[in-house]
Amino acid sequence: MNATNLRFFKAFLLNEKSSILNKSNEFRSEQSSEKTPISDEAELASKDLSMNLSIHLHERDRSQLMMIERALGKISDGSYGQCESCDAEIGDKRLKARPFAVLCIDCMEEQEGRNSYLN
Ligand SMILES: [Zn+2]
Repeated sequence: MNATNLRFFKAFLLNEKSSILNKSNEFRSEQSSEKTPISDEAELASKDLSMNLSIHLHERDRSQLMMIERALGKISDGSYGQCESCDAEIGDKRLKARPFAVLCIDCMEEQEGRNSYLN
């Protein structure tokens, strides 16, 4: 994948991430408005920020956040856009439609086919 596209996806992912985290912060301030000020213990606990935040996230946001982190990790180690199953290029077109895709279309169809046998 070329650098321009990589920058595009990275910016997109970071943007998605911050919108989920902002949502969670709003939720958190609503929740904590009636409680006592933050204790030292809570301060310490907040060091593991992402874990703390994820507790307050809805299931859907949490799983999306995980996909974003996974994709961002792939961008930094250079494997973003590569199929996890067969190492083929997933393709920019497919990634623009599904930025969190980790499988190429062939592998995804194969996997879905396998799953449908189980159902
Ligand atoms: Zn594949």
